[in-house]
Amino acid sequence: MSGSGARRGKAFVISAPSGTGKTTICHKLLAQDPQLRFSVSHTTRPPRPTETSGIDYHFVDEAEFERLIASGSFLEHARYTGNLYGTSYAAVESSLDDGIDVLLEIEVQGAKLVRDARFEAVFIFLLPPSLDELDVRLRGRGTDDDAVIRKRLAEARSELSMAEVFDYAVVNDDLDTAVEQVQQIIRAERSDETDEVKARYGREGVVAEWRKGAEKG
Ligand code: 5GP
Repeated sequence: MSGSGARRGKAFVISAPSGTGKTTICHKLLAQDPQLRFSVSHTTRPPRPTETSGIDYHFVDEAEFERLIASGSFLEHARYTGNLYGTSYAAVESSLDDGIDVLLEIEVQGAKLVRDARFEAVFIFLLPPSLDELDVRLRGRGTDDDAVIRKRLAEARSELSMAEVFDYAVVNDDLDTAVEQVQQIIRAERSDETDEVKARYGREGVVAEWRKGAEKG
């Protein structure tokens, strides 16, 4: 394919601890960028009222998911809060072959699996302003009780400990600013002019700075 001269799409993997605002950021990125297509994952989680099969997820039962694992259909899959989630090769390859960039919104273990598989992708980690702020946001949702929130915060800490998987990190303090920063990374990666974004949003520097100022509790 590389000999054809046609541009192959790029894959962008975006992960974040639960409550960071990842889904909102991904929706905005997709709405503003026709060159970016969402990778529709498979999951065994039941659909939420607002979700449509084939658009938000391919909703399948455990037996079907296991069959897809056995047939080697997944680039990665992971269990998260009791349900299975996976990115099929089909969800990414046809877009990439068509020269369209693909956005994988997946949790951190899945991102690590994509990295370990040496799948070519740009890995972007979103951070909450601080763990205290994440606690406030999770409580503000009003959907989870105290025990669940404590579990999610513990999960967030363990996800933060896997930050080295990522190339870039962006702090979601202000939503529009975070979206703009991720767009800068995407634009730079598309044009292969990444020196500036690596200096600004390189994961190592951002996470070190974040830990200095923001990791509390
Ligand atoms: P939710 O159930 O809230 O839609 O998603 C739960 C978590 O699973 C989120 O962190 C979401 O990004 C992640 N997720 C969605 N699709 C995939 C996937 O294909 N693979 C992995 N590993 N995680 C996924």
